[in-house]
Amino acid sequence: MLAIYPGSFDPVTLGHLDIIERGCKLFDQVIVAVLRNPNKTPLFTVPDRIEQIRRSTQHLSNLEVDSFDGLTIDYARMRRASALLRGLRVLSDFEMELQMAHTNKTLSAQIETVFLATSNEYSFLSSSLVKEIARFGGAIDHLVPNHVAVDIYQCFAKTHPASAQTTALAPTPLPLTTEPPREKPLGRE
Ligand code: ADP
Repeated sequence: MLAIYPGSFDPVTLGHLDIIERGCKLFDQVIVAVLRNPNKTPLFTVPDRIEQIRRSTQHLSNLEVDSFDGLTIDYARMRRASALLRGLRVLSDFEMELQMAHTNKTLSAQIETVFLATSNEYSFLSSSLVKEIARFGGAIDHLVPNHVAVDIYQCFAKTHPASAQTTALAPTPLPLTTEPPREKPLGRE
């Protein structure tokens, strides 16, 4: 059974990676599909996001990373997927996700949406939260893979040099290049 895990992944977090790893145990094959969304202004380009996910998931042999635009359900049909995989964190996720699942069911009765509940430790975690913390110089290396943390800080150092160096609001110093990366579990470099 093939499942598509669609999303923005701007950038991928440890919460996404938890869903990906658990999805790979449930399905024969999983495709992480990065959405090119014209309504959002992303921090990272689609190729950057694909590369970040690939680097974090090298240990998963039944995973593919791809991108798409247009309707998720059209992409799922094109890839002959049986399921759409989505993660649920809080009640507010549920309302939107249920609406999307019902809408997708009207577009294709064959493709089921499967929800995985977030693992407790990631229930608060979102890509936007990570970007907000990094913007003000806070530590994010416990929320994203180390190489993604480096990418984010480099991005903010280029685009928001003043705010990236702000320490007034930051409880910890900027971990730009001064600190060696903390150890992470296997596969989450
Ligand atoms: P989208 O723009 O489609 O919401 P995201 O990249 O924000 O894309 O999220 C993709 C999917 O991953 C969504 O189903 C979202 O609920 C889920 N997700 C995001 N963060 C977490 C997390 N910390 N735990 C579980 N699921 C998550």
